[in-house]
Amino acid sequence: MSVYLVGGPVRDLILGRATTDLDLTVAGDAVGYAKALAAHLGAQLTIHAQFGTATLMLGDGLRLDVATARRERYLHPAALPKVFPGTIEDDLFRRDFTVNAMAVRVAPRGEELLDPFDGLKDLSGGFLRVLHAESYRDDPTRIFRGARYAARYRLRFSSRDRQLIRGVLAESVLRRLSTERLFREVKLVLGEPTPEAALKVLQDRGVLRTLDPALAVGNSAVAQMRRVRHAWQRLDRLEMSSSPRRWRVYLLVFLCSISPTVRRRVGEHLGVKGPPLDALIAELRAFRFLQTQLQKQSLRSSRLRHLLDGASTDLRMLLWTSGVKRVRDRVERYLTHLAAVKPALTGRDLTRFGFPPGPKYRRMLDRLLQERLEGRLNSREDEVAFLRRHFGRPR
Ligand code: ATP
Ligand code: MG
Repeated sequence: MSVYLVGGPVRDLILGRATTDLDLTVAGDAVGYAKALAAHLGAQLTIHAQFGTATLMLGDGLRLDVATARRERYLHPAALPKVFPGTIEDDLFRRDFTVNAMAVRVAPRGEELLDPFDGLKDLSGGFLRVLHAESYRDDPTRIFRGARYAARYRLRFSSRDRQLIRGVLAESVLRRLSTERLFREVKLVLGEPTPEAALKVLQDRGVLRTLDPALAVGNSAVAQMRRVRHAWQRLDRLEMSSSPRRWRVYLLVFLCSISPTVRRRVGEHLGVKGPPLDALIAELRAFRFLQTQLQKQSLRSSRLRHLLDGASTDLRMLLWTSGVKRVRDRVERYLTHLAAVKPALTGRDLTRFGFPPGPKYRRMLDRLLQERLEGRLNSREDEVAFLRRHFGRPR
């Protein structure tokens, strides 16, 4: 039995980049090997018996996937392949790009690099190259994967790959991908560290306009995606919560730059549908409204608080980074100050003051909040005095 480190981690190791996901391929009993390894390392183990794979969680977010070496056959373009057990060479041959088709044997005896497709040469030359002419036709998701690697590692498609991609796009192969598979790729693209770069690659390769003639990344969307990233960096420093689904904010930015009349269609052509698409469209509509409100010359703090309380985190990010200074300043004031303002008094205090419990509490506390936001009440004493003036208590 031989065990190999394969694909992404080998590439990342050569590039000197950190990896948190390790992939091992076993020519032999992968599940048995994973069990033994998990016991040895004291790692948490999950087995997917039907696929002959297993996952070990090693702590610190380090994840180790163990798979049986396999051979694949594509019976139809863009369909999922049939899978058979195979050798490590078979396993490398089923992979997407030469730079991802390298392996290092780790057992028995380590440190031998298997590089049957000259991935090392392409990695230093900066080229993305598929392993055979049918590759993009077999699996068009590889075009999206390539765009991600191009952006992430500053690689470019070889001229032959460009030609192959043009060929499969002309054959409408993308249309054969299910919306689920397409959307998965779109999310991965938008989840990259610099999604705008990956989108540009897809644009340059003609993928975006093939998906929809109105689909394009313009300079303003690119600029806003950069602002979104800087905003997140600031939020991390301020230790404020940020969206865990970053891809979604980028998707909003992307769709926002597209004419409202075709947004729904474009969304569908990106593989979004049903309630998630409805939610995106509704948020973009709300964006327009809020953008107008937040640009008004005068806007009371209480109104600002109300407007942004009603917006989702993603929408607030969209407004914050929309590139209009007044809007940005106001969202910032909300985030750093207004969002946390609350009255010093609580419902319990109102009971203690002898107000009969009821829906009136909500109104009273709301009034206190409004006055606080407008800066007219600044302490607990102010609030007590306010209650006395307006609600006749406490005496
Ligand atoms: P990342 O850092 O994005 O995880 P990765 O190279 O590890 O990069 P994965 O999606 O985790 O990418 O896939 C692991 C490996 O499996 C890849 O390196 C590649 O060799 C192979 N692979 C994944 N998807 C495909 C595909 N659609 N076609 C061919 N090979 C693939
Ligand atoms: Mg990976």
